[in-house]
Amino acid sequence: MVNGGSLAFGLRCLSCGETYPLDPNLFVGCTACMTEQFQAPLDVTYFYPDSAEGLLPDSPLPGLARYAPLLPPLSEDLSLGEGGTPLVPAPELASWAGLGSELYIKDESRNPTWSHKDRFAYLTISGALEAKAKAVVAGSTGNHGAATAAYAARAGLPCIVLSPLDCPPAVQSFVMAYGAAQLRLSTRAARTIIGEGAHNGRWYPASTFTPTPTGPPYGTEAYKTIAYEIWLQLERRVPTAVFVPTGYAELLYGVWKGFREMRDLELTESAPLMVACEPAALAPLREALAAGVSTATVPPQPTAAYAIAVRVNGYRGIVSIQESNGFSVAVTDEEIEEAQTQLARAGIWAEASAAASLAGLRNATAEDFESEGPVVCISTSSGFKDLGLGDSLAPEAEGTWDGVEEALMRSYGIVL
Ligand SMILES: [Zn+2]
Repeated sequence: MVNGGSLAFGLRCLSCGETYPLDPNLFVGCTACMTEQFQAPLDVTYFYPDSAEGLLPDSPLPGLARYAPLLPPLSEDLSLGEGGTPLVPAPELASWAGLGSELYIKDESRNPTWSHKDRFAYLTISGALEAKAKAVVAGSTGNHGAATAAYAARAGLPCIVLSPLDCPPAVQSFVMAYGAAQLRLSTRAARTIIGEGAHNGRWYPASTFTPTPTGPPYGTEAYKTIAYEIWLQLERRVPTAVFVPTGYAELLYGVWKGFREMRDLELTESAPLMVACEPAALAPLREALAAGVSTATVPPQPTAAYAIAVRVNGYRGIVSIQESNGFSVAVTDEEIEEAQTQLARAGIWAEASAAASLAGLRNATAEDFESEGPVVCISTSSGFKDLGLGDSLAPEAEGTWDGVEEALMRSYGIVL
């Protein structure tokens, strides 16, 4: 069943403003202003009503269909209960990060496949069904592939996932468990092949394949619901800043657009500044912002935050930072690892990439970032997707009381 309550009516280029019909097949971005080096993403536009009364629900429960008027057309039957993730108060993490105000972690690991990508996949697969796709394809390191595979399974669509050669084994088992056909190959080749199949109508691309990221036009809209939920969860307060792990900046932009929309609809009086947290090894958005250009490319570098390791920035990131008066912050692997440990000690086991937001907050306060109001760090996914997971085993103990006592002391310094 396609939801008839959507107020979406078209697509618009984020860079030049050219308008297009609302069509899920427009996945290569704007053709009016494209150059060999740059393609701008298309953004969904809506017939906003004069009054925002009743547009948003009263509570942030799971199920994105509750936000249907402010999303592209979606298939209600596909929902797996995505969204409605907890906003966890984290006073001990605020102290650790040097923040003098309230801190909350938006824990996106509580989604159906344990990452924020479920929101994106729900809308993208709805678009694939609208486009009468025969199959869907995702180029993915993990989270995106798993989410696409789960929602494609739900839709009864064959799903192909093209992953890098070093995709973690745990993630491979996870993706294939949903019945997806996963192949490992070079990332560059995958991108070209995804484009080839998309242009030939063989499959619907759930991933971007253009030289600068554009992607399927509906998915990013799903991240607006994170902003709506945060506002509802803060009892209708707006955070002063939102820290976001950033690769192509779809999440950063979606969350920004949600807050911007609520301000434009006069539900709120302000909007947060958006902070892009990129791995220091690959921070193309930071580079593009510093150079005052739309797109920057950086050389390949390894990082533990593989899920947000990208060589080219997304234009959505530029728009989010500029419109919100935000900024970008780079975080090293060591800083990410420290933040990941702190999150786990606070009860949240986050993927390395997901911990980039808390690491970014700590770096920002060490510079000159201060806040009087609430700050939110988005934690995008759970720790079981990390590289190298499962390589270490817990110490073995002799099966006696003395043996356990001795092993606890020897391995962990615990004296009972
Ligand atoms: Zn354009």
